[in-house]
Amino acid sequence: MTTTGTAIDATQIEADARRLAASHPAEIIAEALSRFDSLTVSFSGAEDVVLIDLAVREAEKQGRSFSVFTLDTGRLHPETLEFIQQVSDHYGVTIEAFAPQAAAVERLVRAKGLFSFRSDGHQECCGIRKVEPLGRALADVDAYITGQRKDQSPGTRAEIPVVQLDPGFGRQDNPLVKFNPLANWTSAQVWQQIMAYGVPYNPLHDRGFKSIGCAPCTRATHPGEHERAGRWWWEEATQKECGLHAINLAEPAE
Ligand code: SF4
Repeated sequence: MTTTGTAIDATQIEADARRLAASHPAEIIAEALSRFDSLTVSFSGAEDVVLIDLAVREAEKQGRSFSVFTLDTGRLHPETLEFIQQVSDHYGVTIEAFAPQAAAVERLVRAKGLFSFRSDGHQECCGIRKVEPLGRALADVDAYITGQRKDQSPGTRAEIPVVQLDPGFGRQDNPLVKFNPLANWTSAQVWQQIMAYGVPYNPLHDRGFKSIGCAPCTRATHPGEHERAGRWWWEEATQKECGLHAINLAEPAE
């Protein structure tokens, strides 16, 4: 619940998004911390570690707390797994890993093999390995913080606000607020922050990976290529969401 116990209202959230649109990510995270008792940070193991860095510092100032979770899909690069532990140790925070349901993974792999996403789209595999675990990760929180940016995906993220209601994982009687503090930052600004504050980063970035997800669905990009070109490169740009942020799609991915 909010610190004041007030109900979460869609009109109010839209007004908050307008009010905070030009705010620094630290200010947006500070507001999230001050308003929500049950707040979690979604950490993907990529450059959105700046969220944890900012949240740790803001939480210390306010004497507030937050949790961190990640989705261990079972298909992450070894470097990403090492990095998740490194970040946990560096900041002294527990990063709660949510894994897919073993029975669902077994059914998919038995029926379609290990790489079905290459021939029939990534939604089914992402649904099992990411979306279902995300639902569990968000089941008991009132608000969460993501590293989404507008410049990550012109096809699907160009309009994301810095704060919004999440109708996908929230319910009408139990709304979920989603903060996107980096929405208006560019990749270059994120990297300036990483370098300026000595924020740890995934070593795959030094090998040409701009956007990092599961190993079989992520590749290094060439100079000048958009970062989203390194994800699900066999699919249309307008479908490059894994269901975690399906709210961004004009038409939900099937
Ligand atoms: S990104 Fe690829 S491997 Fe990972 S859950 Fe989605 S389809 Fe499966």
